[in-house]
Amino acid sequence: MIDLHTHTFFSDGELIPSELIRRFEHLGYSAVAITDHADTSNLDFIIPRIIKVAAALNSSQSVKVIPGIELTHVPPELIEPLVFKARDLGAALVVIHGETITEPVAPGTNRAGIKSGADIIAHPGLITDEDAELAAERGTLLEISARPGHGFCNGHVAKTAMKAGAGLILNSDTHSPSNIMTEEFARKVIEGAGLPLSSFSALISNSRRLLEKIGYPL
Ligand SMILES: [Zn+2]
Ligand SMILES: [Zn+2]
Repeated sequence: MIDLHTHTFFSDGELIPSELIRRFEHLGYSAVAITDHADTSNLDFIIPRIIKVAAALNSSQSVKVIPGIELTHVPPELIEPLVFKARDLGAALVVIHGETITEPVAPGTNRAGIKSGADIIAHPGLITDEDAELAAERGTLLEISARPGHGFCNGHVAKTAMKAGAGLILNSDTHSPSNIMTEEFARKVIEGAGLPLSSFSALISNSRRLLEKIGYPL
């Protein structure tokens, strides 16, 4: 199991990074990215601290920790410069908080995120065919979300991504211990999105390929 979208108390998660990662390790996960919510105000505060704890944990635990960030409710025109800034600060993985229907995310966020070269568009809501085609072209992964609410559009995301040839990724968007997916639950979320059960290994492969691309091969 791999999860590339989680939160700690560096944003609105409940746990300190070490406890979050230990809980994933205990469930047998191979890799977990810490991707706390950020905008212009806190990017430079969070990223160095996540890098620090990831390095420490990677020297002593079996689960690989990837320092990432989730740019959240950033106005679309400011997304690209902030993606560059996040990479400059050393974020290995950049997630964009996509256009979930449960929050008033600015229209154009999915597209700006894909164009910016971010790695994942989290919960992209009612993503358009054009944006999914652009994601396919750019190699941006579209997220199937196990998070209540953000997962309302999983069926649409799966269908639209398949039609466009865009890659899908399954993440929990964990904020508290009970959000961490067991493999059994992950399989149900995939089935619930209308995907064949065989997609489970395909989605895990997409996560593995992304890890290779960002320099954290398993
Ligand atoms: Zn959150
Ligand atoms: Zn999130």
